[in-house]
Amino acid sequence: MLKILKNKDPYNKKFSISHWDRIKDENTFYECIKNSSQQWKNEIYDIYFGVTFKNDELTYGNTMGVNATEAQYKNLLKIQEKYDIPISLTLNEMNRPIELIKEKNIKDIVAFIKKYYDDGVRSCTISHTHLMRTGALQSAFPDMDWKNTVNHRVTSTQSFIDYTALGYTTVQLDRDFNRNLAELKRVKIEADRLNVRTCLLMRETCMPECPFKTEHDCWQSGKELKETGKVYWDVVNFTCNRWRVSGRDFPQGHLSPETKETDEIGVMNPRTGTDIIVHGKEDWHAFADVVDIFKFSGRLTYPRSNLNKKFIYALEMKKKSKPFTDLFVVDDFKTVYENNLMPFHSWFSGDHVVKDYPITTNINDIKNGIKNHFWNTPKAISLSNVLKNCKNQCYKCHKCDDLFGTKKIDSILEFN
Ligand code: SF4
Repeated sequence: MLKILKNKDPYNKKFSISHWDRIKDENTFYECIKNSSQQWKNEIYDIYFGVTFKNDELTYGNTMGVNATEAQYKNLLKIQEKYDIPISLTLNEMNRPIELIKEKNIKDIVAFIKKYYDDGVRSCTISHTHLMRTGALQSAFPDMDWKNTVNHRVTSTQSFIDYTALGYTTVQLDRDFNRNLAELKRVKIEADRLNVRTCLLMRETCMPECPFKTEHDCWQSGKELKETGKVYWDVVNFTCNRWRVSGRDFPQGHLSPETKETDEIGVMNPRTGTDIIVHGKEDWHAFADVVDIFKFSGRLTYPRSNLNKKFIYALEMKKKSKPFTDLFVVDDFKTVYENNLMPFHSWFSGDHVVKDYPITTNINDIKNGIKNHFWNTPKAISLSNVLKNCKNQCYKCHKCDDLFGTKKIDSILEFN
């Protein structure tokens, strides 16, 4: 029977990261892990990767529409063995075939998962709730940690309890909880009572309650898009591209802060997403003490070829007064935490850098460089407190609009 160990550490075994399923190269991800600091490795809870189940009747896979290759999977097994970082099989497709509850197909998917179980994989995401309801997987693989998908949209304590009743042993909570700490505390009480782990998607840059989400999730893994060889945003260019930023792109001018207290630009207006806003240690503990694991999305990450092959934490600042970006880099989150390198959440925007880009790594220089960061201004610190519980009800709040100098819009769909 699976033994659940609850994590009380503020940073060790705290982060669930994605394998870069989209890159074709077999070794890049492995080398990045290998070259990362031991402390960075200590902080990783698991690495999740996509697979697709197929038999003569159906296909059921992952919502991103990309999978780890066989060679990448072998490297992931090596990572599990060599660095003691568990790997996690992901079948989270939101098109969930009804045929999968037929006895023959259940037998086939059990045989499919067995290959991974026999290799030592002990963590698996399953989006198919009726399949979980049959209990077949749980009885075939008693030591497997079963995760639901964050796309199930578990947004309340009741919903959390319902998913544990389905047999999930790690419940991935909806990103809404990043703005609802009060409800998260209620979940924590039930999670301890039921001895189930919680996992919170802390960063995704998606619109709160995005009306495109279901279509995105279904299209991304669907046949039509796969045939184009492109990702959703390349094909549907009138979707969230208007306000969404990702990777190292800078946001549109209208999202930059207008506050006179900083000359920084390129800070994302928090109302355009649900990313966690944690200013310093106190905020970190407010979330980390009630959540077992923090998850980063990133299976579609496609790093540039001149990548410096190592995972790090990076904080980037761009100022009106400077023609180039200041890029601050540390090896692990413990360094951020112990040196009070505020704002903490801004370190979650970069996990790798390209070779030869000028970076600052000296802690005193970093402290000096980030002291006037937008999120360290008194008004922004005050907003970060509001964001912990605002529930993204922007139409009647507009506090972000006030600070960022945008007009009081009721929906970010109005951006064009
Ligand atoms: S505008 Fe108000 S409700 Fe909307 S994200 Fe900002 S603080 Fe939260």
